[in-house]
Amino acid sequence: MSETMNPFETQQQGRPTGPLVHGYEVIIGFETHAQLSTASKIFSRASTAFGAEPNTQACAVDLALPGTLPVMNKGAVERAIEFGLAVNAHIAERSIFARKNYFYPDLPKGYQISQFEIPVVQGGVVEFFLETGKGAELAREKKAVRLVRAHLEEDAGKSLHEDFIGQTGIDLNRAGTPLLEIVTEPDMRSSAEAVAYAKELHKIVTWIGICDGNMQEGSFRCDANVSVRKPGQPLGTRREIKNLNSFKFMQQAIDYEVRWQIEQIEDGHAIEQATVLFNPDTGETRAMRTKEDAADYRYFPDPDLPPLCISEQWVEQVRAQMAELPRVMAERFVRDYALPEYDATQLTQSKAIAAYFEETAQACGQAKLASNWIMGEVSRRLNTEDRAIDAAPVQPAQLAAVIARVADGTISNNAAKQVFEALWSGESAAHESAADAATRVDALIEAKGLKQMNDTGALEKIVDEVIAANAKNVAEFKAGNDKALNALVGQIMKGSKGKANPQQVNDLLRSKLA
Ligand code: ADP
Ligand code: MG
Repeated sequence: MSETMNPFETQQQGRPTGPLVHGYEVIIGFETHAQLSTASKIFSRASTAFGAEPNTQACAVDLALPGTLPVMNKGAVERAIEFGLAVNAHIAERSIFARKNYFYPDLPKGYQISQFEIPVVQGGVVEFFLETGKGAELAREKKAVRLVRAHLEEDAGKSLHEDFIGQTGIDLNRAGTPLLEIVTEPDMRSSAEAVAYAKELHKIVTWIGICDGNMQEGSFRCDANVSVRKPGQPLGTRREIKNLNSFKFMQQAIDYEVRWQIEQIEDGHAIEQATVLFNPDTGETRAMRTKEDAADYRYFPDPDLPPLCISEQWVEQVRAQMAELPRVMAERFVRDYALPEYDATQLTQSKAIAAYFEETAQACGQAKLASNWIMGEVSRRLNTEDRAIDAAPVQPAQLAAVIARVADGTISNNAAKQVFEALWSGESAAHESAADAATRVDALIEAKGLKQMNDTGALEKIVDEVIAANAKNVAEFKAGNDKALNALVGQIMKGSKGKANPQQVNDLLRSKLA
């Protein structure tokens, strides 16, 4: 294939320029292998369970014994359809399996069954928010990465080098494991955007349940294609970083690769298309092989497998069985709970978070406050303790009870944080007998003396005392120094043991001193 035939080239003209690194624009496209969560393999009945003794889960088909024939696993096709529907792609009515020919010790057939010219899933888009900057500089930009395709294929076996001195073992348990390879357009413009894309894709496949998403076990592995160019120039030559199986390494690997490519170009060297590996120990990428082109694989349609035909009826059947998708749920949160789009996106990061939010919001009738608490205090605690939301010690009903007491003015926001803290650390054990969450929260508020002072008479008394005792501050305020009021408010809050409502104190003071 000649350079000018790059199908991505024309689509990239006219797309906005990304942030520059030393005057270069970064271009990234992803190929992700998601292992499909079927119990058996894509073309045989052998188990796909992880961690079995080597070669105990490879049958005659996986071993490529002569005379065996592949039989399509319907469950794998259904998962591909589910993915296509989740990303708004076209599901091909007829797609073709092809043989991708290459020699590898862990590939007994001498070819991998994949899809080449006509994949089962075509097009589609993955949307997410990209956060840049921190603090006051924090900005959120909505991104859309276009998918080229997603195709079904089988995994290869594994070569084992560690346990054999001077020899290599072969484990064919993984041979024939179903994979969905998801390919993007080269739409990403920074390592941060690439990681945000990968996280969103991971969310989608785990949400719809087609992949367990376990990155350590290799169930979700990404190849990052990276090139750089001066703005306005045609696409540069890419290098492909293989098998990134952690979000942290993904970012490090791409950043290193970008710096390396820019250095090469600045030193007058051309980039050679290559497949590279990232070494987490050195933080560097290293060429594994110069990259093969499609022609090197001698793809041809697999004569052992008929075309994969998917009727509209089947697609509709699959659609009907699918749970609500994250983006559909997020739209519903915006509509039904009047949440900002960003909140809705954050709260639909997982089904468990979404369920926790809905239960809290419905119990207290304060959706935005529930969202703030879950994205704030709850997330913070979960993060520091490395817990999943299912394991949060504060139940949605309890959080709702705390929020309700803030909303009705019983406690301040600060006091609410103390109650939350007590619930989280199990301090409320003394009130365990209180079966219902509201009673338990009220008992805690009572025991800790956190009730806001709603008795205006008592508050007025404190205000009068403070005014009388602080003539200097009063005079300063009356002379136009607005800051002098803060000192008075502070005194009153102290006098009320922190139970006064600061806004009420402010109003009261101003009216008395006016
Ligand atoms: P192959 O199948 O040989 O790996 P493809 O042409 O299908 O190659 O592209 C693979 C991936 O590389 C796609 O995700 C695509 O977006 C990305 N890609 C293509 N050209 C470039 C480029 N110049 N820079 C960065 N990524 C690219
Ligand atoms: Mg590839």
